[in-house]
Amino acid sequence: MPDTPAKTPHALAARLRNVNKSFGDGGSRLQVLKSIDLDVRCGDITMLVGPSGCGKTTLLSIIAGTLGVDPGSGEVKVFDQDLLKMSSRQNTKFRSTSIGFIFQAFNLIPTLTCTENVSVPLLIQGKSTRHAEKRAREVLDQVGLGDRMKHRPTQLSGGQQQRVAIARALVHEPRLIICDEPTAALDAKNGTLVMELFEKVARSPDRAVLIVTHDNRIFSHADRIAAMDDGKIVEVHDVTGTNPLPEHLRHHE
Ligand code: ADP
Repeated sequence: MPDTPAKTPHALAARLRNVNKSFGDGGSRLQVLKSIDLDVRCGDITMLVGPSGCGKTTLLSIIAGTLGVDPGSGEVKVFDQDLLKMSSRQNTKFRSTSIGFIFQAFNLIPTLTCTENVSVPLLIQGKSTRHAEKRAREVLDQVGLGDRMKHRPTQLSGGQQQRVAIARALVHEPRLIICDEPTAALDAKNGTLVMELFEKVARSPDRAVLIVTHDNRIFSHADRIAAMDDGKIVEVHDVTGTNPLPEHLRHHE
């Protein structure tokens, strides 16, 4: 028998230690993240909550590898890979295989159809157009857009564009899904549909979902809630049957 260690149910998707981030310099320097420590566990949906401007999107972008940190910060590890020590080429490759990042502004390509937009991560990985578009159609079906495959983003509502962006983040089955306000533009039915897809991802012991949200309709899907304020993590709450979400974490602006 090969001597392979058993998978622990809570391997870490991301591990941050003493992460600091500032914007600007001199008198206009603004420290947005202040000595952040955070573990994002595989098998979990982790939700990041906190008042507007407290640094949530900045933190997501750092974990997604699209934004650097201040010199002297500790570590930013995603699946044990140290993002701070990667070359930009390694970073791009790692992100395109391991991370599905859904931006708040969707970032869809206006000249491409839904199917073509969703195919992009697979084409970057070198898959054939035929394979990529077949898989893209499957995922568009899962997000309830089976009848919009040939539409372009401008022909869709905000909620439909959001679901195309979510399909694009899921299409290559990345191990970490990172999403800024996934349900903000969605009605209750489509919000539930998207959260059920995220739950499927997080049911796997080596995958994880990290979400920023103000939407208290979806808090029931959280395994862990990390609360931020003024650039710091002020509370981490693991939700279990015997340890439900406390009232003060249910309300965010
Ligand atoms: P949140 O997601 O919690 O609303 P953000 O992370 O978007 O907060 O922003 C935190 C703070 O950092 C805000 O004061 C914002 O204006 C500032 N900020 C974010 N990105 C930049 C940037 N690229 N340049 C300068 N300031 C920024």
